[in-house]
Amino acid sequence: MYATPPANCYYHSSRPAVTYCMACGRPTCRSCTQADPAGRPMCRPCCLQHGVKQRRSGGVTALAVLNIIFGAIGLFGLVNLIILLIMPPVWMGRDYALMMSIPGCKTYSMVGSILSVSMGVLSLACGIGLLRLRDWARKGSMIYAAIAVVTVVINAVLLLAWQIPAMEAAGVSSFQVDMMRVSGFTVPVLGLVYPVVLLALLTRPMIKVQFGYQMSSGAPGGIPMPNDSIKN
Ligand SMILES: [Zn+2]
Ligand SMILES: [Zn+2]
Repeated sequence: MYATPPANCYYHSSRPAVTYCMACGRPTCRSCTQADPAGRPMCRPCCLQHGVKQRRSGGVTALAVLNIIFGAIGLFGLVNLIILLIMPPVWMGRDYALMMSIPGCKTYSMVGSILSVSMGVLSLACGIGLLRLRDWARKGSMIYAAIAVVTVVINAVLLLAWQIPAMEAAGVSSFQVDMMRVSGFTVPVLGLVYPVVLLALLTRPMIKVQFGYQMSSGAPGGIPMPNDSIKN
């Protein structure tokens, strides 16, 4: 153990370091530090190098849980699909029947529901895979995020350019039109934050190390430590 705590993490210059890696000597923050089989501190890249099993970081756990939650929400598209398929539209009220009388609206809703369920299944599976640090789940989450961004944009454009004007022309109540603006536009557009965060985090080197990727900045121990991180 070192008497003087190091300044900042070698891998995260903004995070305070809590110890030094026993293999490469670099100062590391809490999330970069694991223990070797003997219980000594070892940084993630060195663990990968020495075949020490990666412990899941808090960031990956959070993404996994959010994937599972959003996946479960996506499965509610199944309820929508069942309503579309078996319920006569008038049972769902006047506004709903008017909406469904718009040409293409029923097909569009069905495609949306099927997409929602498929994305839900993908997100759920990837959430479970992320908990187990599987790389297919990391890649699958990134595919999910990319599809989510594209579909939200397409949906937003169609809603504003076609669906809402068509609803107004069909005589749907203004309350229902406003509801559509919130549920069909505002919520999904706000929801874009998550896929963007997902993409940004899952491509970070210290996250990728947990899925078995070597750090691209060089093999641990192979590059000298920057001077600012060894001063004490
Ligand atoms: Zn190390
Ligand atoms: Zn760190």
